[in-house]
Amino acid sequence: MQKIPMLINGNWVYADEERFLDVMNPSTGEVLAQISNANEAQVNEAIRAARVAFDSEEWRKVKAFERGQLLIELAQYIREHAEEWSLLECRDVGKPLSQARADIEAAARYFEFYGGAADKVMGDTIPIEDGILNAVVLEPVGITVHIVPWNYPIQITARSVAAAIATGNAVIVKSAEDTPLTTHAITKWFADKVPAGIFQHVTGLGSDVGPLLTSHPDINHITFTGSVSTGIAVMQAAAKNIVPVTLELGGKSPNIVFADAPMEQALDGVLRAIIQNAGQTCSAGARLLIEESAKEVFLTQLVERFKVLKVGPGEADLDMGPLLNKRQFMNISGRLQQAREDGYVVVGGETLTIEGYGKGYYVQPTILDGMEDTHVLAQEEIFGPVLTVFSFDTVEKAIALANSTQYGLVAGVWSKDLDTAHYVASRVQAGQVFINNYGAAGGIQMPFGGYKKSGIGREKGFVALRNYTQMKNIAIRYALPN
Ligand code: NAD
Repeated sequence: MQKIPMLINGNWVYADEERFLDVMNPSTGEVLAQISNANEAQVNEAIRAARVAFDSEEWRKVKAFERGQLLIELAQYIREHAEEWSLLECRDVGKPLSQARADIEAAARYFEFYGGAADKVMGDTIPIEDGILNAVVLEPVGITVHIVPWNYPIQITARSVAAAIATGNAVIVKSAEDTPLTTHAITKWFADKVPAGIFQHVTGLGSDVGPLLTSHPDINHITFTGSVSTGIAVMQAAAKNIVPVTLELGGKSPNIVFADAPMEQALDGVLRAIIQNAGQTCSAGARLLIEESAKEVFLTQLVERFKVLKVGPGEADLDMGPLLNKRQFMNISGRLQQAREDGYVVVGGETLTIEGYGKGYYVQPTILDGMEDTHVLAQEEIFGPVLTVFSFDTVEKAIALANSTQYGLVAGVWSKDLDTAHYVASRVQAGQVFINNYGAAGGIQMPFGGYKKSGIGREKGFVALRNYTQMKNIAIRYALPN
């Protein structure tokens, strides 16, 4: 069995024998590899090594444009190995191969984008008075910790690591226990490209390794992507040492469809927004809000499309793959059972056994209708291919429904009337609003993050570079001639 080592202080290291964890292929239920559950001494060693490396002359001397070139080189390497890495991601997460390919390309784009930005992170000068030059300088924050979820491992590793390296930090990545493979591939590339301690990968159970990292007094920033409950724990741990956090958390995002929407596009957009990665996407369009007068026709057509969706192993590259693991499967199948018992299922609603893949974690893409907006299935992030439907008869009702959950990550508005669409976009509490499209394929350049409990701060785009820099004001008095 392949054992995946961690990279700590430039050395490939493992945990003690009894601390290995299995990594499964969700499509087949087979064990793909094993990872180490890092112990306290290993986490502490990673943080110590990061500090030494960050303070070293060797790293300070690497020029901004050289850091950028390094990242662009990595982007190139990823593209050269795209097919191999796509298969890794597909097997690790269970997602259809073409979705894994899109993730690999997105990762390359992150390294390319932030590689290009590395020597364009500029400070400012402020006019104070004659005889003073006041400069605002952006410095790296120091040791940045990146805690990554399992649903988009390479993309989420790439998006924050690229920005942090571009700005000159020492990076420690903790991949999700279920999905370390592509982060390990990135780690192998970094291993001999940067000084020991500048890029490190630690693995293990979130509940063990997470708090060891987040409560450590010598880290300088945490970027956490994951659930709200873990985000709260991360923020509490960070608060003890006044360590800033960027939190990218969950969502329950609405697609608001008006009767005058471009219907084919809306049907396609609503469908893809909930089945992508089997609904295990923070920005999944999990709530369909449809104008009452269009509901019957729209829902009938959507149901027909759901009925013909093909579900199967990631490598078969069908419409939808399996759920990630047994925990996810038990959770989603329990929620489907509840929906069946309460009579909300319009289509789907069952678990699936795929011939030849009996150990995979498959469920049907599902639409639920008829529940109150206060119902737990309408409010909580299900994190599976389950769409809940509500209707509205006025624009204000649509806005109220869109804003009625604790989340605020993404929203879609579908209407040919741009007055209505713009008005709704201005009132919806969400970090990104898409009009007559959804998810905007890639979107590396666009700031991404949540209102309300969907998070704090923004990743992606130029603005994310601010997460990884500290601002220093330097006022220089110079002598004027008498
Ligand atoms: P999770 O919160 O269970 O785990 C996320 C990561 O945190 C994992 O690496 C895990 O090992 C680690 N972790 C667990 N306990 C920890 C602790 N006490 N301290 C520190 N780290 C800990 O989330 P998940 O199930 O892996 O991912 C799904 C969630 O992530 C969903 O809610 C989804 O919406 C969210 N998500 C958000 C975004 C975004 O950009 N907003 C993107 C993807 C996923």
